[in-house]
Order: sequence, then structure tokens, then C-alpha cells
Amino acid sequence: MKLVLLGAAGSGKGTLAKNIVKDFNLPQLSTGDILREIAKENSKLGETVASYQKEGKLVPDEITFEVLKNRLSKNDCLNGYILDGYPRTLNQAKLLAKITDIDAVISIELDLDEIVKRLVSRRNCPKCGEIDNTNHEGYNGLCRKCQTPLFQRDDDKPDAIKARLEVYKQNITPLINFYGDKVFVVSSAGSPEETYKPVKTFLEGLKNE
Ligand code: ADP
Ligand code: ZN
Repeated sequence: MKLVLLGAAGSGKGTLAKNIVKDFNLPQLSTGDILREIAKENSKLGETVASYQKEGKLVPDEITFEVLKNRLSKNDCLNGYILDGYPRTLNQAKLLAKITDIDAVISIELDLDEIVKRLVSRRNCPKCGEIDNTNHEGYNGLCRKCQTPLFQRDDDKPDAIKARLEVYKQNITPLINFYGDKVFVVSSAGSPEETYKPVKTFLEGLKNE
């Protein structure tokens, strides 16, 4: 199964992806994560990527598409994958269509206010990748899995959040139209489990087709 996940920053896209990974044994390819790794490199490319990411702007297509193609050519992608963060624009979807056929697109919907609330309180573990938030009881700034001090992503600050959501809003409708009846829409207003349930049923159906 080749899946695309669509959802604004803070919509619960990463969490949903992890649930799918667990049950369907597909690798999760997050272009955001891959690009963040590249941004750490001490190179011209790293510097360029970092400058876009920091401001919440899209990294240019020449870079992202190369990075993606390279990732898709790895052996673990042979039986399918979950694309998390690609495509983000109609043009990216068209580029992707040249190299592969997508089976289904899961689009996560959530109110803008709720998204902003989730993003400003989001914290990440630098060691194991766990994502947490500051608004629950018992939050102490340490990773609940490995006890490492959590950090806030540079682009989870208000200005960059606004920029990312704006970019998302502009691009989502053309993307949904492009994929047409391959799109399955789910709301993430409830808990992670509530969000995942209909998706799981949908994917099980798809698998048995
Ligand atoms: P979020 O979905 O929370 O914004 P991501 O980790 O998916 O976070 O992406 C973070 C940043 O990485 C984006 O704001 C952008 O700069 C870059 N990026 C990720 N995926 C793409 C893509 N498909 N095209 C261009 N830039 C991307
Ligand atoms: Zn951790």
C-alpha cells in the first residue's frame, strides 16, 4: 500500500502515521524529518534547507523531490509506504505521479484554533522522537519514554506557525481535487484512538481489495 497523509502542522498527522506503521508494517517517510536531518549537516545544502525550515517556508521542489526519490529507492519501500509531508503542493503531487502510483490519501481535518493551541504546546524529544505537549497533568519537560529533556521546534514559534498554516491552506484544495476519490477524510478533533479507528477500517478494506 502506498499512502499519502495530508494534514496541517499540528493536525495529528505524525501520531496517526505511527498508528498505521504499527498495524500495517509500512515505513513512514516524513519529509520534514528527513529535511531536518539534512539541515543539521554542515554543508551548503544543509544551510539552505535550514533557512527555509526555520521560517516555515516550503523547501524548493528541486531539493525535496531529489530527497524523496532517493528515499523511495530504498529496499524498505518495496511493499509500500506512508508519505508524511509529501506532497504538499499540486506541483509536488504531479512530480510524484511521474515515479509512482498512490493507492489512497488520508486527509486529516481540524479547526485552525485547535491546531494553533496544539502547536504552541508541542514539545519533541531529541533522542527518541517522542512528541508530547505541555498541557497535561504530570508534564515535567522530560521525555515520558526516555527521560531526555524535551525541546520546542524552531518552527513551532508563533510566526513560523502562521506561515506554515497559511502555506497549507493555500495548497490543500488543489491537492484534494487532484487525488479525487482516492481521498479518505477523517477529523482529528477527538483522541488519537478515535482518529485512528475509521482510518484503520478504511485501510483494512483497501488491503483486502
Ligand atoms: P509540519 O507538518 O508540522 O509543518 P514537517 O516536519 O512536516 O512539519 O515540515 C517542517 C518543514 O519542513 C516545512 O515547514 C518545510 O520547510 C519542510 N518540508 C517538509 N516537507 C516538505 C515538502 N514536501 N516540500 C517542501 N518543504 C517541506
Ligand atoms: Zn525520548
